Amino acid sequence: MKKAIITSALPYANGEIHLGHVASTYLPADITTRFLKLTGTEAYYICASDDYGTPILIQAEKEKKTPEEYVKVWNKRDYDDFTAFGIGFDLFYRTSSPENIAFVQETFKKLMENGHIYEQEIIQFYCKVDKKFLPDRYVIGRCPYCKAEEQYSDLCEKCGRVPQEIEEPKCSLCKNPPTKEKTKHYFFKLTNFVKELNEWLAGDSHLQKDVKKYVQNWIKDGLVDWDITRDITWGVPIPLEEAKGQVFYGWFDNHLAYISSALKFLDNKGIRWQRILEFC
Ligand SMILES: [Zn+2]
Ligand SMILES: [Zn+2]
Repeated sequence: MKKAIITSALPYANGEIHLGHVASTYLPADITTRFLKLTGTEAYYICASDDYGTPILIQAEKEKKTPEEYVKVWNKRDYDDFTAFGIGFDLFYRTSSPENIAFVQETFKKLMENGHIYEQEIIQFYCKVDKKFLPDRYVIGRCPYCKAEEQYSDLCEKCGRVPQEIEEPKCSLCKNPPTKEKTKHYFFKLTNFVKELNEWLAGDSHLQKDVKKYVQNWIKDGLVDWDITRDITWGVPIPLEEAKGQVFYGWFDNHLAYISSALKFLDNKGIRWQRILEFC
């Protein structure tokens, strides 16, 4: 019997699902799963809420909730809304699950053992009033491109660009200007994978033609090593003694939740599919 796991983009546990989400993403995946099941494939539709990231932490702080309480509400709300539309997940889990935390930490350790992770001191904004580092959305200021005020340091919502350095930075919590402090971060050496990725993309039919071209164009100048550390409390803890109090960037853990959630589902069901997970 053929086997298939179907997943779709993990919704942020940070607001209402709207019709656009259903039409573009979850309904097509639901139809695909139903079609496969009806035509004799052992198929399962697995999804999860994306629970980490500074927007979620900031919103939870504004609502005077713990981030755990905050994402629990949205996980249930999203699941109920999808169910009301007849979207039938076999499992709707979460990136903050103990299984995903363990899986992300294990993946990081394997990457480290194999020389794909390095440490580097960086300069980060810090708020002396709130006594915390200010990654991503914790800093607002003027966009250096379109000069729009009150934009996030990681995204200008007016022009859609990612500012290199925001002008007149302010802490988004207390509106005071931040200072700059040193902190040690972990970088994922993506530059180690350029050759393999290019070869994989050039190979047969992994991707649709247009998608392949799009990705090739995107990485034509190579890849850039990636800062996967955040100095905040909400996230998957970095599993190293010297990184106490630091967590992984949400984009390092969330895509791994597709795999960890699928494994959780299969383990729960007692299904023993051959595991084809290989670490680099
Ligand atoms: Zn702008
Ligand atoms: Zn502040």
